[in-house]
Amino acid sequence: MPYQAEYIWIDGVEPTHGLRSKTKIVADGKKPPVWGFDGSSTNQATGSFSDCVLQPVFTCPDPLRGPNDVLVMCEVLNADLTPHPTNTRAAAVATAKQYASFEPMFGIEQEYTFFQDGRPYGWPEVGFPAPQGPYYCGVGGAKQPGREIVEAHTLACMRAGLAIEGTNAEVMMGQWEFQIGVLGAVAIGDQLWVARWLLQRIAEDYGVDVSFDAKPIKGDWNGAGAHTNFSTKQMRGPGGFDAIVAACEALGTRVLEHIDSYGAGIKDRLTGAHETAPWSSFSYGVSDRGSSVRIPGAVARDRRGYLEDRRPNANVDPYVVSRLMVETICGAARAPRRAPAAKAVKAPAAATSTRAAATKVAARR
Ligand code: ADP
Ligand code: MN
Ligand code: MN
Ligand code: MN
Repeated sequence: MPYQAEYIWIDGVEPTHGLRSKTKIVADGKKPPVWGFDGSSTNQATGSFSDCVLQPVFTCPDPLRGPNDVLVMCEVLNADLTPHPTNTRAAAVATAKQYASFEPMFGIEQEYTFFQDGRPYGWPEVGFPAPQGPYYCGVGGAKQPGREIVEAHTLACMRAGLAIEGTNAEVMMGQWEFQIGVLGAVAIGDQLWVARWLLQRIAEDYGVDVSFDAKPIKGDWNGAGAHTNFSTKQMRGPGGFDAIVAACEALGTRVLEHIDSYGAGIKDRLTGAHETAPWSSFSYGVSDRGSSVRIPGAVARDRRGYLEDRRPNANVDPYVVSRLMVETICGAARAPRRAPAAKAVKAPAAATSTRAAATKVAARR
């Protein structure tokens, strides 16, 4: 019996690329083949030379269809089989190869906002819901609109074999998060994009839209991020804390390059309010959710583990954030020492570290 393969790819829409997909019936026993699409309808080609190529790169069970059906994440190639300009995965693969010996690993916390009728899901037709406070990890009544979609999405990710780790309701009503990881530098992008596709596809069934907008509602409402947690073999190993501090220092040398690639509208979100650090200054600290990069308290205590770059937007391309973090952090670790090595930072004695105990570094640029 033939099976259905849902080919998923990233389009060329600006300023934020979106997802597209279409279905191919594949003969029993055959793998999903290379396929194509009309790039002139996705901002990836002109009408007169419109063929783009879909190269399957990651396949998993389709949890929404039959037991033999699959989801197929694809790279977009030009007709001559070179990577299309909108193909950010190809560069992520090259960088991951270059720094494979560091064994970089990622976990991403994907925040998003449900929308219906042009406003966040569950919001009143006029005016605003009660101010932020009860919604984060809240329960009960009208406080948590969208939970049925979250439940369906979580189950779908598990059935697809994706490395989903958890979910939580966020600070703004209608806003939620799921986490995915811990995965290698390319797999994090493949799986997060498929998880985003599943979320949008499932929300369809409820007549709801998913927004990855970084600041969907202006004013005193939280934005939506994609905190990116990162480690190397050295950072995870005994005494890895010094490598974690060195990684933070390295991120501090390329602040604007990262900010420019961390998603459209980042300056609206990284204002310094709502658990963010201002985009224009770089800081890192232990347990500090008001810094650009946070070293979790438990990591400081164990003196090994990972760091959390809190800057990426919900609408960031995970292939881009992965490539940049590996380039910047592993690149600095590999480079011959020009400057003196980053000074070691003492972990605070108490597990409950405070902002005062945190290390702050001024922006370099
Ligand atoms: P918080 O909301 O407190 O920032 P979460 O529990 O939402 O924390 O997310 C923690 C993230 O850290 C997860 O995505 C997880 O995959 C990631 N993580 C844990 N250990 C590592 C590691 N060694 N390397 C990279 N990421 C990690
Ligand atoms: Mn989280
Ligand atoms: Mn969150
Ligand atoms: Mn976080």
